Amino acid sequence: MRIPLLAGNWKMHKTLSEGSALVEELLAGLGNHTDREVLVCPPYTALAALRPLLENTPIALGAQDVYFEKQGAFTGAIAPAMLVDVGCRYVIVGHSERREVFGDDDATVNRKLHAALEVGLRPIMCVGESKPQRDAGQAEAIVTAQVRAGLHQVSAAQMADVVIAYEPIWAIGTGDTATAADAQAMHAAIRATLNELYGQDVAESVRIQYGGSVKPDNVDELMAQPDIDGALVGGASLKAESFLRIIHFQ
Ligand code: PEP
Repeated sequence: MRIPLLAGNWKMHKTLSEGSALVEELLAGLGNHTDREVLVCPPYTALAALRPLLENTPIALGAQDVYFEKQGAFTGAIAPAMLVDVGCRYVIVGHSERREVFGDDDATVNRKLHAALEVGLRPIMCVGESKPQRDAGQAEAIVTAQVRAGLHQVSAAQMADVVIAYEPIWAIGTGDTATAADAQAMHAAIRATLNELYGQDVAESVRIQYGGSVKPDNVDELMAQPDIDGALVGGASLKAESFLRIIHFQ
């Protein structure tokens, strides 16, 4: 059974005090779900401070990116083991903003994913097409190619720790969500690709999140789709009220 993962990607938002306040509010409103998993991915600067607040709670801690080298002269970069050291369980790799703004290509995403797995982090690998690619009818080909390239030389056993997030670029931060039917169709295509790569057991066990303007008013319909196993949430994860409503999806 796939346990849905509701993850908040805070991007470049929240000071220490703002992040702590948000976490306190989330913890207060979380309730006792055993059928879903919750994760927050604050900026690097807040990870160490939030760790003690989240320890022994149902909210896991994750980072928004990682570098693939272990250590060395890589100014500004953060190594996978450093994330483990501050209590991270998950790390996002290949977010479209990393791909578009910082130039991460599929090969880089694949290296980051391997580096995360090597230290026991669970990578959330983001894939997604642009608007022109969708309009040209290339969405499925683009996304499934990103899946194949990002998972290059990842073993079936390692897939137990991998989460995939389908995030159409045109839906991120725009308020323009994919319809539940379009999202489901892409998730099914991603799962079919996993089936080709790893067989049915792995394909059926890997969680595929949807991301792109997930909000309180569309989360229920999206989460009702058979191949959507949670959400990667940007804007709506920055306020406790909206993220809690997303966490409490029906
Ligand atoms: C994201 O940052 O991954 C995202 C999906 O953002 P938003 O929910 O704001 O569209």
